[in-house]
Amino acid sequence: MYFRALNNKISELKGVGPSVEASYKDSQIETWGDLLQLSPRDFEDRSRIINLNEVSVDGEESTHINTIVEVVSHTYFGGFSAKGRTLKIVVHDVTCNKNLSLLCFGRNFLAKTLKVKNLYYLYGTATRHHGEYQSSQFEMSHIESVDSPLPFPYGQYLPIYPLRGSLSQRIIRRDIKSILSTSPHFDEELPSYIRDELSLLNTDDAIRNYHNPSSREMWELSRKTLAITELFYMQIIARKNMFIGTKSESKTKSVCSNIENRFIASLPFSLTGDQMKVLKEIRESLDSNHIMNRMLQGDVGSGKTLIAWITALHVIDKGYQVVFMAPTELLATQHAQNAQTLLGPLGIKAELLTGSISQKNRRPILEDIKNGNCNIIIGTHAVFSQDVEFKSLKYVIIDEQHRFGVAQREALLAKGEDPDILMMSATPIPRSLALTVFGDLNISTIREKPNNRKDIISYLVSERSRERMYRSIAVEFERGHQAYFVYPRIDDSGASELRDVTNMFEMLKREYPGVPSALLHSKIPDDDKLDILKRFRNKELMYLVSTSVVEVGLDVPDATCMIIEHADIFGLSALHQLRGRVGRSDLQSYCFFVYGDNISDIAKERLKALKETNDGFILSEKDLSLRGPGDINGTRQSGFLKLHFSSFINDTDYILIARKYCDKILSSDPKLQMGENRMIQKVIKEANPFPDVD
Ligand code: ADP
Ligand code: MG
Repeated sequence: MYFRALNNKISELKGVGPSVEASYKDSQIETWGDLLQLSPRDFEDRSRIINLNEVSVDGEESTHINTIVEVVSHTYFGGFSAKGRTLKIVVHDVTCNKNLSLLCFGRNFLAKTLKVKNLYYLYGTATRHHGEYQSSQFEMSHIESVDSPLPFPYGQYLPIYPLRGSLSQRIIRRDIKSILSTSPHFDEELPSYIRDELSLLNTDDAIRNYHNPSSREMWELSRKTLAITELFYMQIIARKNMFIGTKSESKTKSVCSNIENRFIASLPFSLTGDQMKVLKEIRESLDSNHIMNRMLQGDVGSGKTLIAWITALHVIDKGYQVVFMAPTELLATQHAQNAQTLLGPLGIKAELLTGSISQKNRRPILEDIKNGNCNIIIGTHAVFSQDVEFKSLKYVIIDEQHRFGVAQREALLAKGEDPDILMMSATPIPRSLALTVFGDLNISTIREKPNNRKDIISYLVSERSRERMYRSIAVEFERGHQAYFVYPRIDDSGASELRDVTNMFEMLKREYPGVPSALLHSKIPDDDKLDILKRFRNKELMYLVSTSVVEVGLDVPDATCMIIEHADIFGLSALHQLRGRVGRSDLQSYCFFVYGDNISDIAKERLKALKETNDGFILSEKDLSLRGPGDINGTRQSGFLKLHFSSFINDTDYILIARKYCDKILSSDPKLQMGENRMIQKVIKEANPFPDVD
């Protein structure tokens, strides 16, 4: 059994009730195999003695200690009555001959359990004030003598897991322990010669030590083993087709169908060189006899959506259905309107399907989808709810792929017979990573902007230059151009979000009297939102004051000003996406990044990078380097590139090692049929770590 393939449900564990199960589910843990892939966020080092000698001198900072103490005395301090007093236990650290005072705030009962002259293991934190060592956070566990066997969890290098809902360290440790103890032996995943050459552990030892290491070194070795294994499979899976040869693809010259040509000819502009290039790549993959799993990446406004429509026509022309999935109702609606305007005249029937469509209106749409009257279905994840039946789904386009979870995608894929997939993303993977992981073959990239575009001019605006900014925006209004004022979502309660946007809205009304505007934020009902956007597009409204709901996909050509307040709070890619809402026509556009006085250095770097370039690809590299090793989550992108044991930022060495073995194996045995390579094939079949990439 491969550990990843342990499909037992979490609820089969003893002691796991519905609430713990739900909390696991929120952390995307549904099976035993999922839980074994949960990585610790930190450690408690109880594996070695850390005694009072290591406590910093009269510092504010507390130091972790893990040592053996003997209780010396019980005294009390503070308070006027017996009840109000606080217990202070003086203990003697036998490993360094120093005394430590345990301040038992609210824990006077410890006087009964921690007995004078007894020995204890102590784990906690300590500080030193005026020469006295003190601790108010400690756990003690009685031992008979200094050489007694250590009670759990002493003597361990103890993982601390990320928590959610009703999960606790105790629960997670208990559950992992019980999975490991019921599973006899996990199958090996790396060919033995790789393991030997790199001095790695075997898979079984690695996964056990990952959760239950005896020392830091042991944990690191098991992490290294699992990380290299994971990266090795990621590359084998992503690259194996490259080595099998380009089969029939190059011979079957794939051509634009008549309907595609008619559509392209009807456009008021010509396609850019990059658009033609990716169009050809996608068409060829669609026509090949391999299932397509392709990423189309390109900056906001580079014309990806248009490519999606053209390639959809390619598939529709052969008599199949296409799904176009957008992350929000707002975007789905906008896309559906566009599709109807653009594709309707060619006799293509496009339908919008979202969760908010009434049952009555939904029925005929479902009927159309089922009997094939409808060629392209545009919607949110509602396109794959239970009641939707397709006649012949062959192609799925996913807009802003990083916003969807794997589970949602899988549910959709189950609806078609192995549909081809195109994922579109405006947040490119840095090229170095993209190439290492995917190879060139599965990524199509648009770098070139439509030629009529002018680069957006960006300004960094401090409070002092705010007035000047307002004046220059007034000039844009006079020219009939429009603006977005964006506020960050400051917290989840919604309260301060509303207050800020609302204040801003009132303030701007005074600044621009008579200029029609509207507020847009997550608390506004969807219907009203759509109406506001429609009026904005028609130029009945000149500016929107909004939270970051405008981030994705909105396309309003006459909007030339983007003002982002508190720009220092946003991440680099979010800022770049927001900026991409303007500069969508031949008009000169402007982006104002407004920042406060206490802006951090790193936020300043981000804004500077944005001022310097409009190129999302350069920015993605910059983002990676600015984020640094601290932000692992940011690069463990959800779903598509989900790494459990490794990280793109910290593990470039491992990536290269894995890549070396991967290429060596694939170039001599592309079908993985020889000797030990067969085990690789078996792992992919039975426990594929990256079903998305395959
Ligand atoms: P993306 O999806 O990459 O953000 P879109 O496909 O929505 O970009 O394109 C943005 C805008 O640019 C749309 O209004 C689209 O019609 C227009 N557009 C697309 N391709 C071109 C082109 N080659 N020349 C001029 N305008 C284009
Ligand atoms: Mg788009």
